[in-house]
Amino acid sequence: MHGENEPSEGVVRFRRCPNCQSGSICPLSGFEEKNLFVCGGCHFIFDVRIPSAEVLDAFYANYAYSVRKNCPAPTRVSYNRLLDKFEKYRKTNRILDVGCGQGDFLIEAKKRDWEVHGTEYSPAAVALCEAAEISVSTGALKAATFGPLKFDVVTSFEVFEHINNGFEEISTITEMLRGGGLFYLTTPNFNSVLRYLEGQEFRMIAYPEHISFYTSRSVANLGTSAGLEILKTETTGLDLGRLKAVLSCGSGAPRQLTSGSVRVQESNELRSRISGSYSLRAAKWLVNAALTITGTGDTLKAWMIKPDID
Ligand SMILES: [Zn+2]
Repeated sequence: MHGENEPSEGVVRFRRCPNCQSGSICPLSGFEEKNLFVCGGCHFIFDVRIPSAEVLDAFYANYAYSVRKNCPAPTRVSYNRLLDKFEKYRKTNRILDVGCGQGDFLIEAKKRDWEVHGTEYSPAAVALCEAAEISVSTGALKAATFGPLKFDVVTSFEVFEHINNGFEEISTITEMLRGGGLFYLTTPNFNSVLRYLEGQEFRMIAYPEHISFYTSRSVANLGTSAGLEILKTETTGLDLGRLKAVLSCGSGAPRQLTSGSVRVQESNELRSRISGSYSLRAAKWLVNAALTITGTGDTLKAWMIKPDID
């Protein structure tokens, strides 16, 4: 798969862009220490190191899924808003979530009588899905796994930053969609305002967990290269706790970043308050509109359609 790549000081590095295979790649200015490269062809930003199977196994062994974690109410609300929008694609009644984790999204889809399918690497997560009666295939996404089945909608939440074969993955997804079907993808946005403020300390840069970094432009290039039509891309959300920490650091105050679990709790509380108040919802809509226009929100969302040529 990585035929053109050679080991250098014991680490195998990409010699070409892993997505478009262009040889025109160079270190990303300001991110050299983090081994980030950018492709001159498709603008994709990636960690130039190719983690070995041993490195990945050692890292993901600690990705615990031993017990089901509660899906926060605001997440369920946003899944259902998304499912409302997916209704107009419902034809075969089949939906697939690639990298479905413990199956929270598919559980909501199943309540709406979708025929749900998932793929997931972690055997522990697959066991949790099976306990919730969600049909999941273990391991890498392969079109053959589902035989001739085609899907109305394929989703992939926060997966593409973990893999460095994005083109291969999206090509398989395209193959599995019916003509006119939808691929919906979310991934962290490399052009988040936080990345401009934090530079190389940007939390999202985390080898070997995060090795691919997308922007509206490069994710659209990826979809187009796989034969999908880009319906829209948008960027939403800002980690306000992190923004506050970065800004107070800039003003000379001691750098103190809120811990991950406290931030998640704060952010869930904030989301509950926002969903309960009309004026806060309106404010959130305005902020998200501004983030989409400037392309600087934390989360990048892409809507792509497989052309219907029948
Ligand atoms: Zn490229």
